[in-house]
Amino acid sequence: MPTEDHRGRPALLGAAHLGLDEFRADAANRDLIERRLKHVGNSVLFYDDPVHLVRGEGVWLFDSDGRRYLDCYNNVASVGHCHPDVVTALSEQAGRLNTHTRYLHETVVEYAEKLTSLMPDGLDVCTFVCSGTEANDLALRIARTVTGRHGAVVMEGAYHGNSTVVDALSTVLHPDPADRPDWLVAVEPPNTYRGPFRRDRDDNLGARYARLVADATAVLDERGHGTAAFMCDTVFDTQGTLEAPADYFRLAYEHVRAAGGLCIADEVQAGLARTGRWWGFEHYGVTPDIVTLGKPMGDGHPVGIVVTTREIAQEFASRAVYFNTFGGNPVSAAAGRAVLEVCERDDLTSRCREVGAVLRARLEQLMERHPVIGDVRGLGLFLGVELVEDRGTRTPAAALARRIPDAMREAGVLIGITGRYGNVLKIRPPLVFTAADAELLITTLDRVLTGLTAGTTGPDA
Ligand code: PMP
Repeated sequence: MPTEDHRGRPALLGAAHLGLDEFRADAANRDLIERRLKHVGNSVLFYDDPVHLVRGEGVWLFDSDGRRYLDCYNNVASVGHCHPDVVTALSEQAGRLNTHTRYLHETVVEYAEKLTSLMPDGLDVCTFVCSGTEANDLALRIARTVTGRHGAVVMEGAYHGNSTVVDALSTVLHPDPADRPDWLVAVEPPNTYRGPFRRDRDDNLGARYARLVADATAVLDERGHGTAAFMCDTVFDTQGTLEAPADYFRLAYEHVRAAGGLCIADEVQAGLARTGRWWGFEHYGVTPDIVTLGKPMGDGHPVGIVVTTREIAQEFASRAVYFNTFGGNPVSAAAGRAVLEVCERDDLTSRCREVGAVLRARLEQLMERHPVIGDVRGLGLFLGVELVEDRGTRTPAAALARRIPDAMREAGVLIGITGRYGNVLKIRPPLVFTAADAELLITTLDRVLTGLTAGTTGPDA
């Protein structure tokens, strides 16, 4: 199965390690690994020699031996690890008051006001939750309640979260359509490099891929479910980081709305300045009916949000009860508000756009030296580097890709892999990444690729 790694697990897990024998025999911290495997469930760890982190600062992470790593992977610590403004906001609020959410509190209201002011007109109401999963779960529930329909359209190879319902939407975990519920139809994502319609040989790519969404809504109608929602991650992280054709979302949204469904933009990955705009969907000139947010919103503190129109929110509230003990508590709201303030004050959207352009240009230059790089793509500071055995056949170079995060980690730089075939290097650093950081990433990647393609990591890699 192409969606599986060399151990037969979903490539999504990024060549994750689960058993003691899967780690390097000389891995440091073997004792801690063993204790964790014994008592911590679902202990997925990165790297043959897992990193034992004890401190973070900006784009840097430090391990228990005092070694530092350039973080080019983590979008949770969005404004940088342990940003002082966020730490202060969190600790001051934690020292004053934290409660559940059935009391009045200024901060959560201010946070909702600020956040909705950064959304397109009409997306005016926030519901606070604690994770991306909860946000997507609630979004689907809202869509079903408001439309009176049940079906959902998602992408093949998507990840949307882990609750029972949202796990079903995470088609990357269920590659066999026979394992999926009847109310779900998955369509091919707009991968114009290796999908069914390709930029080197087809035209009207946006319309062709969007047509698949229309076909999916027809299938849901035939099955008697109708279409409640179309959910899509606007950066297509698990599909190898894709840039959709410019008109794709506009056309797909038209098809979904014609079928009576709502359009949900899963901005858990794309959201918050990373792509060079506040929200990923802005690149495509569309306004979703529901936006879901998570990962980066609290700079590491769990914050999830569903943003929708007043009309949809009121319709849902009139028909259903939703209560979330921790969502929007004063401490989480203080963290979220501080993150938005930092993003705005330091103009991180522009910064991601500018540094992302520098990084992308440098990655494209690497293509000249490394024929194994077949494609470089992405928006702002969310970039994918697709590795192939041969640029003509585009055969995924999955075995090579799998070795790169470990070799980079040895060289002091953290990146990941993604994509259906596990052959796409995932570069997604904190938003405060600089051009100098990008240069360090590039020189390290250059050295590692040279070493691995020559059969050695080189003396200083
Ligand atoms: N949507 C997307 C696009 C994601 O990448 C993730 C997490 N990787 C989620 C939703 C789920 O978020 P969480 O892990 O916070 O539940």
